[in-house]
Amino acid sequence: MIEIQNVRKSFGQLEVLKGIDLNVAKGEVVTVIGGSGSGKSTLLTCINGLEPIDSGRIVVDGTEVHAPKTDVNRLRQKIGIVFQQWNAFPHLTVLDNVTLAPRKVLGLGKAEAEAIGEKQLRHVGLGDKLTTYPSRLSGGQQQRMAIARALAMSPDYMLFDEVTSALDPQLVGEVLETLRMLADEGMTMICVTHEMSFARDVSNRVAYFHKGIMAEIGPPQQIFGDPQHPETRQFLASVR
Ligand code: ADP
Ligand code: MG
Repeated sequence: MIEIQNVRKSFGQLEVLKGIDLNVAKGEVVTVIGGSGSGKSTLLTCINGLEPIDSGRIVVDGTEVHAPKTDVNRLRQKIGIVFQQWNAFPHLTVLDNVTLAPRKVLGLGKAEAEAIGEKQLRHVGLGDKLTTYPSRLSGGQQQRMAIARALAMSPDYMLFDEVTSALDPQLVGEVLETLRMLADEGMTMICVTHEMSFARDVSNRVAYFHKGIMAEIGPPQQIFGDPQHPETRQFLASVR
C-alpha cells in the first residue's frame, strides 16, 4: 500500500503541500480533484520520488520513498506514472518505444521485452499499431501507448496525472475506458483528473485538494452528493 503521512513540500517560499495524509490500499482507486495549483501533480511526483519532500513520510510497500538508503530507481519500477503528454521517441516504432525501458532498465532480452510490449499494447487496444511510428497515432492512441509503456514495467501502482487533459473531447472516452479497465482488473491507482463523471463512476474514494490541503476525502457519493466543505461545493459547481 501507499502511506502518505503529514507530507509538506515547498518550492522556495511557496508551500504547495501543507501536511498531506493519505493511505491508498492495494486495489484501491483514488481520484484527486481540485483547482489548478492546488498541489495535485506535486503529490504524484513526490510519491514516486521524482521530487524530494520537506517533512513527513511516504511509504510504499514498507519502503520509505525519501529515505537516503532507498533505491529510488528500483522503487519507481513498481510505480508507473503517466502524464498529460509523453514525448515518445519519434524515430522508434510504437513497440520499440514500449520495450525501451524493459530492455534498458530491467535488462530484458529483445524477445522477452517484445512479448511483454506486444501484450500490453494489445491490452490497451493498440495490437495493430506495433510497427507504426508515434506521429501516426491520434492523441488518444498516444496516451494509450504511454499507458502500455508504463504497464510494460509490471508496476504494482499506477499514477495518472490528467492524462486526458490535452486531448480533443472526442478522444477522451477511449483513454478513460482504458483507465476503467485497469481499475476493474484491480490495479491500485491514483488518478488526478478533471473528468468528474469518471471520478464518480470509477473511484473508491475521491480526494479534493485546495491550496495544498486535502480539504475533503470520501466515497464519490459523499463528495459529489453531500460535500462537507464550502470549497468542495464551490469547486464542484464551477466544473459542472
Ligand atoms: P496542480 O497539479 O494541482 O495544478 P501543482 O502541483 O502542479 O498543482 O503545483 C502547485 C504549485 O507549485 C503551483 O503554484 C506551481 O506553480 C508550483 N510548482 C509546481 N512545480 C514547481 C517547480 N518545479 N518549481 C516551482 N514551483 C512549482
Ligand atoms: Mg497538475
